[in-house]
Amino acid sequence: MNGVISDRSLPVGSNENPLCIFHSAYFWSAFLDFIRKLMVAPDKKIKLTQFDPADTLGHDDDHKTQDKLQKTIKRLDELQDLLYAEKKRALLIVLQGMDASGKDGTIRHVMSGVSPQGCTVTSFKVPNSEELAHDFLWRIHKAIPAKGMIGIFNRSHYEDVLVVRVHKLVPKVVWKARYAEINRFERNLEENDVKILKFFLHISREEQERRFQERLHDPRKKWKFSKADLKERKHWDDYVTAYEAALSRCSTEYAPWFIIPSDHKWLRNFAISRIIVETLEEFDMHFPKSPPAS
Ligand code: ADP
Repeated sequence: MNGVISDRSLPVGSNENPLCIFHSAYFWSAFLDFIRKLMVAPDKKIKLTQFDPADTLGHDDDHKTQDKLQKTIKRLDELQDLLYAEKKRALLIVLQGMDASGKDGTIRHVMSGVSPQGCTVTSFKVPNSEELAHDFLWRIHKAIPAKGMIGIFNRSHYEDVLVVRVHKLVPKVVWKARYAEINRFERNLEENDVKILKFFLHISREEQERRFQERLHDPRKKWKFSKADLKERKHWDDYVTAYEAALSRCSTEYAPWFIIPSDHKWLRNFAISRIIVETLEEFDMHFPKSPPAS
């Protein structure tokens, strides 16, 4: 994979953490592998053709990977419990990708083990009239998770430099200014104890077609099929350009983008859950000794 290797320092091991089930160096090296390979380095100019959406990053779809995924999901539950108990910070997970790239499936699988009490999921659709009457970050800010919570965005403020750019919904001068506005907004969140992880689910055009066909022919998936998705598919190249700009201009040390090869759902789930767990491990959290003062 080109261009995504970050010079971020190695995370300190959290072996003192009594809940940590990943004591072996092997587990840590595997975690770092995902972060190193998939994180977009700040200011790196991204060309998506250089990233293989079907990459398996040296892993196999076998019982060993499944076992590691289950352990990672279990660990995520333990870490969410700590995050909730401490209430010192929040985690925001942003999911973006072309139609049928697997945003819903990621939420269902990766978050399958965590307590609903500590999670919020917000899906951003076409803005309503009240939202349009405000600045584009207004509805986003309202959905930012509170301290102690994991918030997941299914689509996000990035739509305002993606669909809005592709369909020219506002003048160029307006969407162009938004990259810097987004960076400022995300820095402000980071300074207020919101850790942000942004995942671009990278699928190929062929895989998208396969998934659309599956939606059309599988009675359990037909409800997901929309003619609007077919219309959007015609703008594939424009979306690629818009995604490349967002990934190149808005991957920062405080709110990095990760390009997740997503043609294989198992690899997508494995990589994302690992990156989330490793990020939470770095918080070095502890259960409070007494209940919070009311
Ligand atoms: P999804 O595809 O996420 O499952 P929908 O089929 O309801 O859900 O699609 C949501 C639509 O809302 C997408 O086409 C997306 O581009 C659009 N959307 C989201 N945010 C904005 C925005 N800020 N401006 C215009 N359209 C937006």
